[in-house]
Amino acid sequence: MVEPEFKKAPKVWLDGKLIPWEEANVHLGSHTVQYGLGVFEGIRAYKQDDGSTAIFRLQEHIQRLFSSAHILGMELPVTEEAVIEACCQVVRSSGMDSCYLRPTAFYGQGQMGLGALNNPVHVAVAAWAWGRYLGDEGMRKGTRAHVSSWQRMSAKSFLVKGKVTGQYVNSILAKREARAAGCDEAILLDEFGLVAEASGENIFIVEKNVIFTPPRSAPILDGITRDAIIHLARDMGYTVVEQSFTRGTLYCADECFFTGTAAEVTPVREVDGRAIGKGERGPVTAALQDSFFKTVRGSNPRRLSWLTKV
Ligand code: PMP
Repeated sequence: MVEPEFKKAPKVWLDGKLIPWEEANVHLGSHTVQYGLGVFEGIRAYKQDDGSTAIFRLQEHIQRLFSSAHILGMELPVTEEAVIEACCQVVRSSGMDSCYLRPTAFYGQGQMGLGALNNPVHVAVAAWAWGRYLGDEGMRKGTRAHVSSWQRMSAKSFLVKGKVTGQYVNSILAKREARAAGCDEAILLDEFGLVAEASGENIFIVEKNVIFTPPRSAPILDGITRDAIIHLARDMGYTVVEQSFTRGTLYCADECFFTGTAAEVTPVREVDGRAIGKGERGPVTAALQDSFFKTVRGSNPRRLSWLTKV
Protein backbone atom coordinates (compact mmCIF):
# COMPACT_ATOMS: atom_id res chain seq x y z
CA MET A 1 0.00 0.00 0.00
CA VAL A 2 1.36 3.44 -0.88
CA GLU A 3 0.94 6.47 1.35
CA PRO A 4 -2.22 8.44 0.39
CA GLU A 5 -2.14 11.68 -1.60
CA PHE A 6 -0.69 14.67 0.27
CA LYS A 7 -1.54 18.13 -1.07
CA LYS A 8 -0.81 20.91 1.38
CA ALA A 9 -3.02 23.92 2.09
CA PRO A 10 -1.20 27.16 1.19
CA LYS A 11 -1.61 28.79 4.62
CA VAL A 12 -0.74 27.70 8.14
CA TRP A 13 -2.14 29.42 11.24
CA LEU A 14 0.72 30.03 13.68
CA ASP A 15 0.28 31.91 16.95
CA GLY A 16 -2.63 33.97 15.70
CA LYS A 17 -1.55 34.67 12.12
CA LEU A 18 -2.11 32.99 8.77
CA ILE A 19 1.27 32.60 7.09
CA PRO A 20 2.49 30.76 3.97
CA TRP A 21 3.15 27.02 4.50
CA GLU A 22 6.83 27.49 3.50
CA GLU A 23 7.35 30.04 6.31
CA ALA A 24 5.87 27.90 9.08
CA ASN A 25 9.24 26.68 10.36
CA VAL A 26 10.46 25.62 13.79
CA HIS A 27 13.98 26.13 15.17
CA LEU A 28 16.21 23.13 15.89
CA GLY A 29 16.54 24.34 19.48
CA SER A 30 12.81 24.08 20.11
CA HIS A 31 12.20 21.90 23.14
CA THR A 32 9.54 19.74 21.42
CA VAL A 33 11.85 19.00 18.48
CA GLN A 34 14.43 17.70 20.95
CA TYR A 35 12.18 15.71 23.30
CA GLY A 36 8.70 15.24 21.81
CA LEU A 37 6.76 16.96 24.59
CA GLY A 38 3.86 18.39 22.60
CA VAL A 39 0.26 17.67 21.72
CA PHE A 40 -1.67 17.47 18.49
CA GLU A 41 -4.97 16.62 16.87
CA GLY A 42 -6.17 15.17 13.59
CA ILE A 43 -9.50 16.43 12.26
CA ARG A 44 -11.31 16.16 8.94
CA ALA A 45 -13.34 18.74 7.05
CA TYR A 46 -15.82 17.25 4.59
CA LYS A 47 -17.64 18.57 1.56
CA GLN A 48 -21.31 18.50 2.49
CA ASP A 49 -24.09 17.17 0.28
CA ASP A 50 -25.36 20.78 0.00
CA GLY A 51 -21.99 21.89 -1.46
CA SER A 52 -20.68 23.66 1.66
CA THR A 53 -17.78 22.49 3.83
CA ALA A 54 -18.04 21.46 7.48
CA ILE A 55 -15.55 20.21 10.06
CA PHE A 56 -16.51 16.96 11.82
CA ARG A 57 -16.68 17.13 15.63
CA LEU A 58 -14.41 20.15 15.76
CA GLN A 59 -15.31 21.12 19.30
CA GLU A 60 -14.58 17.62 20.65
CA HIS A 61 -11.21 17.54 18.90
CA ILE A 62 -10.19 20.92 20.30
CA GLN A 63 -11.39 19.89 23.76
CA ARG A 64 -9.18 16.79 23.46
CA LEU A 65 -6.23 18.98 22.39
CA PHE A 66 -6.68 21.03 25.56
CA SER A 67 -7.14 17.87 27.67
CA SER A 68 -3.94 16.39 26.22
CA ALA A 69 -2.12 19.62 27.17
CA HIS A 70 -3.76 19.63 30.61
CA ILE A 71 -2.56 16.13 31.47
CA LEU A 72 0.98 17.12 30.43
CA GLY A 73 0.74 20.27 32.53
CA MET A 74 1.24 22.37 29.40
CA GLU A 75 -0.53 25.71 29.43
CA LEU A 76 -1.78 26.79 26.02
CA PRO A 77 -1.61 30.56 25.42
CA VAL A 78 -4.90 30.58 23.48
CA THR A 79 -8.54 29.78 24.11
CA GLU A 80 -10.42 26.79 22.69
CA GLU A 81 -12.56 29.25 20.73
CA ALA A 82 -9.47 30.79 19.10
CA VAL A 83 -8.22 27.38 17.93
CA ILE A 84 -11.69 26.50 16.63
CA GLU A 85 -11.75 29.75 14.66
CA ALA A 86 -8.17 29.08 13.46
CA CYS A 87 -9.26 25.70 12.05
CA CYS A 88 -12.14 27.35 10.19
CA GLN A 89 -9.81 30.06 8.83
CA VAL A 90 -7.29 27.50 7.58
CA VAL A 91 -10.01 25.55 5.77
CA ARG A 92 -11.52 28.74 4.29
CA SER A 93 -8.14 29.89 3.02
CA SER A 94 -7.18 26.45 1.66
CA GLY A 95 -9.28 26.47 -1.49
CA MET A 96 -10.22 22.85 -0.66
CA ASP A 97 -13.71 21.59 0.08
CA SER A 98 -12.39 18.57 2.03
CA CYS A 99 -9.15 18.30 3.96
CA TYR A 100 -7.36 16.98 7.03
CA LEU A 101 -6.46 19.46 9.78
CA ARG A 102 -3.52 19.20 12.13
CA PRO A 103 -3.59 21.48 15.19
CA THR A 104 -0.32 21.23 17.16
CA ALA A 105 0.96 22.82 20.37
CA PHE A 106 4.69 22.70 21.03
CA TYR A 107 7.38 24.19 23.23
CA GLY A 108 9.73 26.64 21.52
CA GLN A 109 13.21 27.88 22.33
CA GLY A 110 14.47 28.80 25.78
CA GLN A 111 16.04 26.28 28.12
CA MET A 112 17.42 23.06 26.65
CA GLY A 113 17.20 20.73 29.66
CA LEU A 114 14.51 18.20 30.49
CA GLY A 115 13.50 20.31 33.46
CA ALA A 116 12.73 23.42 31.37
CA LEU A 117 9.47 24.91 32.50
CA ASN A 118 9.27 28.32 30.93
CA ASN A 119 9.82 27.83 27.22
CA PRO A 120 7.08 29.53 25.21
CA VAL A 121 4.23 27.39 23.93
CA HIS A 122 3.32 27.84 20.27
CA VAL A 123 0.08 26.75 18.67
CA ALA A 124 -0.32 25.99 14.98
CA VAL A 125 -2.95 24.63 12.61
CA ALA A 126 -1.91 23.16 9.26
CA ALA A 127 -4.07 21.36 6.70
CA TRP A 128 -3.67 19.10 3.73
CA ALA A 129 -5.77 17.01 1.39
CA TRP A 130 -5.61 13.39 2.44
CA GLY A 131 -7.20 10.49 0.62
CA ARG A 132 -8.15 7.17 2.14
CA TYR A 133 -5.54 6.58 4.86
CA LEU A 134 -5.69 2.80 4.46
CA GLY A 135 -6.35 2.87 0.72
CA ASP A 136 -9.46 2.89 -1.50
CA GLU A 137 -9.35 -0.85 -1.86
CA GLY A 138 -8.97 -1.29 1.90
CA MET A 139 -12.10 0.78 2.40
CA ARG A 140 -14.13 -1.46 0.07
CA LYS A 141 -12.61 -4.90 0.50
CA GLY A 142 -10.92 -4.68 3.88
CA THR A 143 -7.34 -4.26 5.01
CA ARG A 144 -4.80 -6.82 6.20
CA ALA A 145 -3.43 -6.36 9.70
CA HIS A 146 -1.13 -8.19 12.03
CA VAL A 147 -0.68 -8.27 15.77
CA SER A 148 2.43 -6.27 16.49
CA SER A 149 5.48 -7.41 18.41
CA TRP A 150 5.27 -3.93 19.97
CA GLN A 151 3.00 -3.53 22.98
CA ARG A 152 0.62 -0.59 23.35
CA MET A 153 2.14 1.76 25.94
CA SER A 154 1.15 1.08 29.50
CA ALA A 155 -0.72 3.70 31.52
CA LYS A 156 1.92 3.04 34.18
CA SER A 157 4.54 4.80 32.07
CA PHE A 158 2.69 7.04 29.61
CA LEU A 159 -0.28 9.34 29.46
CA VAL A 160 -2.17 7.09 27.08
CA LYS A 161 -5.26 9.32 27.00
CA GLY A 162 -3.24 12.21 25.62
CA LYS A 163 -2.49 12.71 21.94
CA VAL A 164 1.13 13.42 22.80
CA THR A 165 3.70 13.92 20.03
CA GLY A 166 6.54 11.77 21.42
CA GLN A 167 4.23 8.90 22.33
CA TYR A 168 3.73 8.27 18.61
CA VAL A 169 7.13 6.58 18.41
CA ASN A 170 5.27 3.50 19.74
CA SER A 171 2.74 3.71 16.87
CA ILE A 172 5.41 4.36 14.23
CA LEU A 173 7.48 1.35 15.28
CA ALA A 174 4.37 -0.82 15.04
CA LYS A 175 3.27 0.67 11.70
CA ARG A 176 6.71 0.21 10.13
CA GLU A 177 6.90 -3.38 11.32
CA ALA A 178 3.43 -4.07 9.84
CA ARG A 179 4.44 -2.57 6.48
CA ALA A 180 7.67 -4.58 6.44
CA ALA A 181 5.57 -7.71 7.05
CA GLY A 182 3.41 -6.85 4.03
CA CYS A 183 0.39 -5.70 6.08
CA ASP A 184 -1.50 -2.41 6.03
CA GLU A 185 -1.84 -1.88 9.75
CA ALA A 186 -0.63 -3.05 13.17
CA ILE A 187 -2.86 -4.13 16.05
CA LEU A 188 -1.26 -3.61 19.47
CA LEU A 189 -2.00 -5.68 22.56
CA ASP A 190 -1.87 -4.13 26.01
CA GLU A 191 0.45 -5.24 28.80
CA PHE A 192 -2.05 -7.98 29.76
CA GLY A 193 -2.25 -9.43 26.27
CA LEU A 194 -5.68 -7.97 25.49
CA VAL A 195 -6.37 -6.25 22.18
CA ALA A 196 -5.95 -2.49 22.66
CA GLU A 197 -6.05 -0.64 19.33
CA ALA A 198 -4.23 -0.15 16.03
CA SER A 199 -1.30 2.21 15.44
CA GLY A 200 -3.63 5.13 14.68
CA GLU A 201 -7.12 3.69 15.02
CA ASN A 202 -9.50 2.15 17.53
CA ILE A 203 -10.68 -1.39 16.89
CA PHE A 204 -14.12 -3.00 16.84
CA ILE A 205 -15.28 -6.57 16.27
CA VAL A 206 -18.74 -7.95 15.49
CA GLU A 207 -19.96 -11.27 16.91
CA LYS A 208 -23.50 -12.43 16.06
CA ASN A 209 -24.55 -8.85 15.27
CA VAL A 210 -23.27 -7.52 18.61
CA ILE A 211 -20.48 -4.95 18.37
CA PHE A 212 -17.56 -5.01 20.81
CA THR A 213 -14.76 -2.50 21.37
CA PRO A 214 -12.23 -2.15 24.22
CA PRO A 215 -13.49 0.15 27.00
CA ARG A 216 -12.19 3.65 27.74
CA SER A 217 -10.39 2.20 30.75
CA ALA A 218 -8.13 0.22 28.36
CA PRO A 219 -4.86 1.94 27.33
CA ILE A 220 -6.37 3.39 24.16
CA LEU A 221 -6.83 6.85 22.75
CA ASP A 222 -10.36 7.98 23.44
CA GLY A 223 -11.21 8.10 19.75
CA ILE A 224 -13.75 10.61 18.56
CA THR A 225 -14.63 8.40 15.58
CA ARG A 226 -14.97 5.50 18.05
CA ASP A 227 -17.49 7.57 19.98
CA ALA A 228 -19.32 8.55 16.77
CA ILE A 229 -19.59 4.91 15.67
CA ILE A 230 -20.88 3.81 19.08
CA HIS A 231 -23.63 6.45 18.83
CA LEU A 232 -24.46 5.71 15.18
CA ALA A 233 -24.55 1.95 15.81
CA ARG A 234 -26.92 2.42 18.76
CA ASP A 235 -29.06 4.79 16.66
CA MET A 236 -29.31 1.91 14.14
CA GLY A 237 -30.44 -0.51 16.86
CA TYR A 238 -27.21 -2.44 17.35
CA THR A 239 -26.00 -3.45 20.79
CA VAL A 240 -22.52 -2.07 21.45
CA VAL A 241 -20.52 -3.53 24.34
CA GLU A 242 -17.37 -1.77 25.57
CA GLN A 243 -15.38 -4.79 26.69
CA SER A 244 -11.83 -6.02 26.14
CA PHE A 245 -11.20 -9.18 24.12
CA THR A 246 -8.29 -11.46 23.35
CA ARG A 247 -6.41 -12.12 20.15
CA GLY A 248 -8.25 -15.46 19.77
CA THR A 249 -11.62 -13.73 20.00
CA LEU A 250 -10.46 -11.28 17.34
CA TYR A 251 -9.42 -14.15 15.00
CA CYS A 252 -12.86 -15.76 15.40
CA ALA A 253 -14.96 -12.59 15.01
CA ASP A 254 -17.54 -12.33 12.22
CA GLU A 255 -16.25 -8.87 11.33
CA CYS A 256 -13.57 -6.42 12.40
CA PHE A 257 -13.06 -2.77 11.56
CA PHE A 258 -10.91 0.20 12.53
CA THR A 259 -12.10 3.73 13.29
CA GLY A 260 -10.10 6.95 13.23
CA THR A 261 -10.15 10.42 11.77
CA ALA A 262 -7.61 9.50 9.10
CA ALA A 263 -8.82 5.91 8.51
CA GLU A 264 -12.53 6.80 8.99
CA VAL A 265 -14.26 3.38 9.13
CA THR A 266 -12.04 0.74 7.51
CA PRO A 267 -12.88 -2.96 7.41
CA VAL A 268 -10.24 -5.53 8.40
CA ARG A 269 -10.41 -8.70 6.32
CA GLU A 270 -7.40 -10.55 7.67
CA VAL A 271 -5.35 -10.64 10.88
CA ASP A 272 -2.11 -12.63 11.13
CA GLY A 273 -2.92 -14.48 7.90
CA ARG A 274 -6.32 -15.61 9.21
CA ALA A 275 -9.49 -14.51 7.43
CA ILE A 276 -11.86 -12.56 9.63
CA GLY A 277 -15.38 -13.88 8.97
CA LYS A 278 -15.69 -14.35 5.21
CA GLY A 279 -12.44 -12.46 4.58
CA GLU A 280 -14.23 -9.42 3.17
CA ARG A 281 -16.09 -6.32 4.37
CA GLY A 282 -18.98 -7.59 6.49
CA PRO A 283 -22.59 -6.32 6.42
CA VAL A 284 -22.47 -4.55 9.81
CA THR A 285 -19.26 -2.75 8.86
CA ALA A 286 -20.77 -1.76 5.49
CA ALA A 287 -23.91 -0.40 7.20
CA LEU A 288 -21.81 1.60 9.68
CA GLN A 289 -19.59 2.98 6.91
CA ASP A 290 -22.70 4.09 5.07
CA SER A 291 -24.12 5.80 8.15
CA PHE A 292 -20.74 7.40 8.97
CA PHE A 293 -20.24 8.86 5.49
CA LYS A 294 -23.82 10.17 5.37
CA THR A 295 -23.26 11.78 8.77
CA VAL A 296 -19.97 13.50 7.89
CA ARG A 297 -21.54 14.83 4.68
CA GLY A 298 -24.45 16.40 6.56
CA SER A 299 -27.12 13.89 5.54
CA ASN A 300 -27.97 12.54 8.99
CA PRO A 301 -30.51 15.01 10.48
CA ARG A 302 -30.01 13.52 13.95
CA ARG A 303 -26.29 14.37 14.05
CA LEU A 304 -26.05 17.79 12.45
CA SER A 305 -24.67 19.17 15.71
CA TRP A 306 -21.44 17.22 15.01
CA LEU A 307 -20.70 19.50 12.06
CA THR A 308 -19.23 23.02 12.13
CA LYS A 309 -19.72 24.89 8.89
CA VAL A 310 -16.69 26.89 7.90
N1 PMP B 1 -5.83 5.57 18.46
C1 PMP B 1 -4.72 6.22 18.12
C2 PMP B 1 -3.41 5.78 18.69
C3 PMP B 1 -4.78 7.32 17.25
O1 PMP B 1 -3.68 8.00 16.91
C4 PMP B 1 -6.04 7.71 16.73
C5 PMP B 1 -6.12 8.86 15.77
N2 PMP B 1 -6.29 10.08 16.42
C6 PMP B 1 -7.17 6.99 17.11
C7 PMP B 1 -7.03 5.92 17.98
C8 PMP B 1 -8.53 7.38 16.61
O2 PMP B 1 -8.95 8.59 17.19
P1 PMP B 1 -9.91 9.58 16.46
O3 PMP B 1 -11.10 8.78 16.02
O4 PMP B 1 -10.25 10.59 17.47
O5 PMP B 1 -9.18 10.15 15.30
